[in-house]
Amino acid sequence: MPHIDTLLAQAGRGQDPRTGAISTPIYQTSTYAHPGLGQSTGFDYSRTTNPTRGALEEAMAALDGAAAACAFASGLAALTTLLCLFKQGDHLVVAEGCYGGTYRLLDQVMAPFGLTVTYVPVLDAAGYRAALRPQTRAILVESVSNPCLLVPDLPVLAGIARAAGVLLVVDNTLLTPYWQRPLELGADLVVHSASKYLAGHNDCIGGIIAVRDEALAGRLKFLQNAVGAVLGPQDAWLTLRGLKTLALRLERQQRNALVIARWLQEQPQVRQVYYPGLPDDPGHATLARTASGLGAVLSFEVADRPTLERLIAGVRLIAYAESFGGVESLITVPAVQTHANLAPGERQRLGVTDTLVRLSVGIEDPGDLIADLAAALGDPAVIPKTPVSHHVTRR
Ligand SMILES: *Cc1c(COP(=O)(O)O)cnc(C)c1O
Repeated sequence: MPHIDTLLAQAGRGQDPRTGAISTPIYQTSTYAHPGLGQSTGFDYSRTTNPTRGALEEAMAALDGAAAACAFASGLAALTTLLCLFKQGDHLVVAEGCYGGTYRLLDQVMAPFGLTVTYVPVLDAAGYRAALRPQTRAILVESVSNPCLLVPDLPVLAGIARAAGVLLVVDNTLLTPYWQRPLELGADLVVHSASKYLAGHNDCIGGIIAVRDEALAGRLKFLQNAVGAVLGPQDAWLTLRGLKTLALRLERQQRNALVIARWLQEQPQVRQVYYPGLPDDPGHATLARTASGLGAVLSFEVADRPTLERLIAGVRLIAYAESFGGVESLITVPAVQTHANLAPGERQRLGVTDTLVRLSVGIEDPGDLIADLAAALGDPAVIPKTPVSHHVTRR
C-alpha cells in the first residue's frame, strides 16, 4: 500500500482508460445506454453508480482502510442513510456535544420513527457501557468533539462496542483519514462531512461513509441507492480535487493553529484556549496515542460580551461564518450559530458558553491572522485567567 501522501495526490487517477485523462472526468449523466437486451456496461443510472462519484468512493475506501465507501449529498445525508441501518425500537448511545445537526436529526427526525438515544459525556468511558441496553445497536462518537474539542478514547470505546456486539460509528470530520483512521482502531463505520477538510475549499457540500465489513458495505450500498441522497458528479470531482492537497493543507493548518493557540493563551482578553495541539490540553495525550495529527480547529473563551462583539465586528481577514476546514480561516460563535438549536441550559452544561469562539485556522500567513485577531480584540480589559484545566464536566 503506498504512503497516504501518495494515495491523496493520486486520488482518482486511472479512471479514464480511453483517453488516459489525469484528472477524473466529470460524468455529467443521469443514465447510460445498454449494449443490448439484458446487458449493461456496469452503469445503469447515476443514483446507483456514477464513475466520478465511484472514483471518490474508491479513493476514500483506500484512505480509510475500508471494504467500501459511499458518497452522499452532505454529511447529514450520510448520517441519515447510516441511521437507516436501524429500525423502530433500536437504541443508540451517542456522545454529548455532537454536531448540532446530528442532535437535530436524532431528536427531531429519527425519534418519531422510534429510534431512541442515550447521550453520554464524551470522555465518560464507563458511561457508554452503563448506557447499553439489549436494544442498543451502536455507539456514535466524533473523533474530536466540537466546539469544545474533547477527545474520546476510540480503542477503549471499540472494546466496549465489541464486547456488547454493537457497532462503533465515528464521525471523523475533524481529523480526516490523514490524521486518524478509526477503522484501524476498531470502529465499524466512519462518517465524514466532506464539506469540511476533505473538499477543503469552502466550496461544496458532501458526505462519506466508510465501512470495514463487506456485508455491512453491501447493506450500505443498498441504502445509498434506496434512499437516494447521493453526491452529484460535480461535487464528487471537487472533493477528489480537494483530496489531492489534503496532506499539504492539514500540515499547514495545524502549524498555523498551534502558533495562534499559543498566541491566544498570552492575550489578557482570552480566558482559556481549547486546542488538543497544546501539550497541556487534556485531549493531547489521547490524540498523540490514536492520531498522527492534532487538528486545526481551536476554540477560546473571551473575557466578556463586549470583547466578543469587538472581535466579531473587528476581524477583516478572518470571515465570521459557519463551517470549518477550508483554506480560508473562519470564526464562529457556536452559541448563536452551530449550537443555537440547543436549549440555553444544555449549551451551558456542554461548555458552549455565550463567550466561546471557534476558530477554523486556514492556510494563510499566521502573522497576518494574528494581526487580524489582535486588531479586533483591541485594548485588553484585564481579567483573571480561569484556573480550571477545562470547563466541561469530566468523569
Ligand atoms: C459539518 C458536520 C456534519 C454535517 O455535515 P454537512 O456536510 O454539513 O451535512 C456532521 N458532523 C460534523 C462533525 C460536522 O462538522
